[in-house]
Amino acid sequence: FPKGKKGNNHLAMLGQLAAQILHEVRNPLASIKGFIQLMEHQTVPNQDYLKLVSDEINYMEGLTNDILSFARLDNSSFSTLDLQKIAQESLFLFSNLADGKRIKLELSSDKATHEVKGSSVQLKQVFNNLIKNAIEATPEKGRITLTLRSLGNMQQVRIKDSGTGIPENVLANLGRPFFTTKSRGTGLGLAISYQIIQAHHGRMTVQSSPNQGTVFTLNFPSAWIEKGADPFF
Ligand code: ADP
Ligand code: MG
Repeated sequence: FPKGKKGNNHLAMLGQLAAQILHEVRNPLASIKGFIQLMEHQTVPNQDYLKLVSDEINYMEGLTNDILSFARLDNSSFSTLDLQKIAQESLFLFSNLADGKRIKLELSSDKATHEVKGSSVQLKQVFNNLIKNAIEATPEKGRITLTLRSLGNMQQVRIKDSGTGIPENVLANLGRPFFTTKSRGTGLGLAISYQIIQAHHGRMTVQSSPNQGTVFTLNFPSAWIEKGADPFF
């Protein structure tokens, strides 16, 4: 994952980011415009065109939400929370999507609670991003296991899928904003997750073998760790 560069030329970075975002929005806009023009000559709008227009709008809506969530990263609303509860909520959110592919979603934990300090909204977004990626990478009848472990000063989350795995050339780009291998991906899920984990003084690592699956491992300081102390030291 990319190391944060502090003290960079922020204006240049902003310009680059704006250019990238506009690039991602220009293509769907062009295709919406094209289909609307085609439909202008129809008395009954073609349902396939309407569906394509609606898909493009959904994509732009997702992109907008992803980008806005970057702006919302601050630690003013941190409190003690239970990772187990967040994991359950996130798994529940994806139960329909997983059922549709007959994927088993499992949760196991070695303690009743796994408390860390943070923002439940942000951490849920991390879980959502990782579980969504796992489901997208896993073929029918696969399995995704979320494991919570209490390791003294750290709380560990493992998200393991039986999916396609991540090839070397993709691994090297993981976490780079806008990097995606999906036709309709935003390439922002991991980049946002990485920022959120950093804001929580956590760590994220990934292990993957092609055709066997992928494991994302997150470690967060336990809630009882004093502010400023580094459990990874
Ligand atoms: P997106 O999902 O929009 O493509 P992400 O930042 O969430 O963006 O992921 C970036 C890329 O990382 C994906 O396009 C995919 O190639 C790869 N990836 C992430 N998670 C997994 C996974 N669990 N299994 C296989 N590939 C993955
Ligand atoms: Mg994703």
